[in-house]
Amino acid sequence: MSQYTPMIQQYLRVKANYQDAFLFFRLGDFYEMFFEDALKASQELEITLTSREGGTEERIPMCGVPYHAAAGYIEVLIQKGYKVAICEQTEDPKQAKGVVRREVVQLITPGTVMEGKGLLEKENNYISSITMFDEATFGIAYNDLSTGESKATILTGSEEILLNELATIGTKEVVVDSNFDSNLRKKIEERIEAIISIEKNIDNDHESNDILANLSNEKLQITANRLLHYLKKTQKRSLDHLQPFSEYEVNQYMKLDYYSKRNLELTESIRGKGSKGTLLWLLDETVTAMGGRMLKQWVDRPLINEADILRRLNLVETTLQRYFERQELRELLKGVYDLERLSGRVAFGNANARDFIQLKKSLMQIPAIVSLVKQLEHSEAEKLADQLDPCEDLTDLLEQSIIDQPPLSIKEGGIIKDGFHEELDTYKDASRNGKQWIAELEKEERQKTGIKSLKVGYNRIFGYYIEVTRANVHLLEEGRYERKQTLANAERFITPELKEKEALILQAEEKCIELEYALFMEIREKVKTYIPRIQQAAKIISELDVYQSFATVSEARHYVRPSFNDQRLIHITNGRHPVVEKVMGSQEYVPNDCRMDSEREMLLITGPNMSGKSTFMRQIALTAIMAQIGCFVPAENADIPIFDQVFTRIGAADDLISGQSTFMVEMLEAKNAIANATKNSLILFDEIGRGTSTYDGMALAQAIIEYIHDRIGAKTLFSTHYHELTSLEEKLVQLKNIHVSAVEQQGKLVFLHKVKHGPADKSYGIHVAELADLPKELIVRATEILSELENGQARDVKTETNPEHVNEQLVFFAEPVKGQCSDQERKILEEIRKLNLMEMNPMQAMNNLYEIQKKLK
Ligand code: ADP
Repeated sequence: MSQYTPMIQQYLRVKANYQDAFLFFRLGDFYEMFFEDALKASQELEITLTSREGGTEERIPMCGVPYHAAAGYIEVLIQKGYKVAICEQTEDPKQAKGVVRREVVQLITPGTVMEGKGLLEKENNYISSITMFDEATFGIAYNDLSTGESKATILTGSEEILLNELATIGTKEVVVDSNFDSNLRKKIEERIEAIISIEKNIDNDHESNDILANLSNEKLQITANRLLHYLKKTQKRSLDHLQPFSEYEVNQYMKLDYYSKRNLELTESIRGKGSKGTLLWLLDETVTAMGGRMLKQWVDRPLINEADILRRLNLVETTLQRYFERQELRELLKGVYDLERLSGRVAFGNANARDFIQLKKSLMQIPAIVSLVKQLEHSEAEKLADQLDPCEDLTDLLEQSIIDQPPLSIKEGGIIKDGFHEELDTYKDASRNGKQWIAELEKEERQKTGIKSLKVGYNRIFGYYIEVTRANVHLLEEGRYERKQTLANAERFITPELKEKEALILQAEEKCIELEYALFMEIREKVKTYIPRIQQAAKIISELDVYQSFATVSEARHYVRPSFNDQRLIHITNGRHPVVEKVMGSQEYVPNDCRMDSEREMLLITGPNMSGKSTFMRQIALTAIMAQIGCFVPAENADIPIFDQVFTRIGAADDLISGQSTFMVEMLEAKNAIANATKNSLILFDEIGRGTSTYDGMALAQAIIEYIHDRIGAKTLFSTHYHELTSLEEKLVQLKNIHVSAVEQQGKLVFLHKVKHGPADKSYGIHVAELADLPKELIVRATEILSELENGQARDVKTETNPEHVNEQLVFFAEPVKGQCSDQERKILEEIRKLNLMEMNPMQAMNNLYEIQKKLK
């Protein structure tokens, strides 16, 4: 250490406490980084790497960003998942003896950003803490620092449940104890893509009593305390906007694991992370950012309590029926800014006067919103309206104090209205009068001297002066003017009275600025005391916004209000997949019914590829989810049960991250469903068993179907390309075959997308091959081969139930040559015997056949 200069020593001391962050070390107008930080930051930020003397022989790597442009660079690092510690000079360099004192004033991390692009308008930015009490008991507390929302729960069960909940929360950062299980840590980093931070302190300090008041047990408090200590340690400031933690239980909501959410594209699309093409994207007609965030939370957590669901549906229905009120509500909501994040900025100490104007304007919309919501004449709506507090005393205060178009800076005055503060007004008068006096002086001096070009000016160095061109200087009265500055062709003078007035003006201006800043701070403190009321209003406004959003979408897309039954019946008439329908247009989309009851617990769906099997299955799940978040559903009529869980296994989403094989993922997901599903669950299995060899796959698929049928009884939709499985209908009483129809028209396959009773009856492989534009000649040949096969000789492999019969099939080819085979032919027979037909697509089968025929010829 001692070899370094004192400043570098200081740097290293500070850095020792922030090993896992970039240290932005303030040096004058720059934030500098040194050593490793400099090497890494210069790459990540694409800035020049330099070096400086540091007391050692070797120069120290260094790079830096200008202070005024730092925000953008910090944003880049945070978005890349890094942390940034901001180290400021905390004493006036002029007064410092030796090295200027420096301290870290804030640690910015992905889970604690308060502004910038890292903070998406319609998405929460959560940070969570976990405490592992034993192998199967976890505490989770989470918070959005930008809005103040805080929640906590205890989970019991496997790690999967924990990971699932973290995924549902969508947390950016997870705070754990230093001895946290390293395997689990890795899974969090990889699967949840959250960064890990350490906080050991879990003690209760009295400051946090209010925030912890609603937590019913010590485990929750410990977990919440870990989070609070981390936030305080990193943010180093008042966090008055943190709302008291509310306790929740995951069983209050429909369970949907991470894979199912992704497969169903609820809030994230499978391709790419954006929300386009998701259910959230479809449903989002919210007007406010707060409403957008609440909508996402609702989509992430469908309800299971019927009364809660019905309450939402009632409000949506009322809003839907009142077209004009709804339009007006949307207009009013457009004038409401992000009250939650504004409160956050106030508490955090970075709100400016423009934020106050936004706050005022937003709150001023509330009385009109209240009266509009009352016009809906619905008791629940009325209750919401009654709780909606316009905080009139606050709007009055802001109306009286802050001018309508204030500047961004809070340190240069020009913020406070006239008449708000007497002393301020006298300074303002002094300053304005003084300026008036100066304007008059200019006039007088021009008359007195007869110099028309004479002017009074101001600069920072000399203050006010009288400027006269050199040619006119002789016109000035001797002795009255003191020369101050000589320019190329003008001279600048002062007079005693000018200087006297100047002192008054400058003093008044300085006082104005100082007093305005002090008053602004005072107002900010007052606004702080309103934060809980503002947050409460924000919640109600968000809720209203989501109802109008559901109503708007439901009306535009002709959705209906679902009804619920407790006989476990699914009766959907003309149901649609909401997103596919929106993308392709409702004219094109073919609606389908779905009927399931105690005799039709399971539907086995067959049909050619691309016929719409998977779309049909998804539309059932999406209908259930939409109903349970309280929205109308895409159907003509829908009577459904309330599902406790939805499980999906749908082909496309391979788990590349954890490096598991598709088949393993398939089996894990199947296991997950089988282990957890109940009679009240919905299971969607799309082409299960495809990832392994034919017999394996088919055997597993059949066993899974049987298991669900006999042991679980969950409502299940199972699509398969194993045609053999359709005969299960004879054996399993609650299983029924359905298929998605397609027809041939002039030798081409036309998908009708219509779901019908019974199994699909034909393989459309060749037509699909034709659609895929395989060479004409080849298609013709395949058609020939097919008809040869069909012309009586061949038993259709695909109608066989028992896979073992497939072997017998081969005997047929043997017959014509029985007893008279040449060696050559025997070889070919052996080749045929070894062919694994069930693993082949029609093209491959055909190619093989072609080869064989060639050899025989
Ligand atoms: P499968 O699972 O049978 O291979 P998909 O469900 O993936 O087929 O559907 C294939 C395509 O068919 C979809 O992308 C969609 O464009 C279209 N499609 C599916 N169902 C319908 C429908 N009911 N009406 C109109 N088009 C549909």
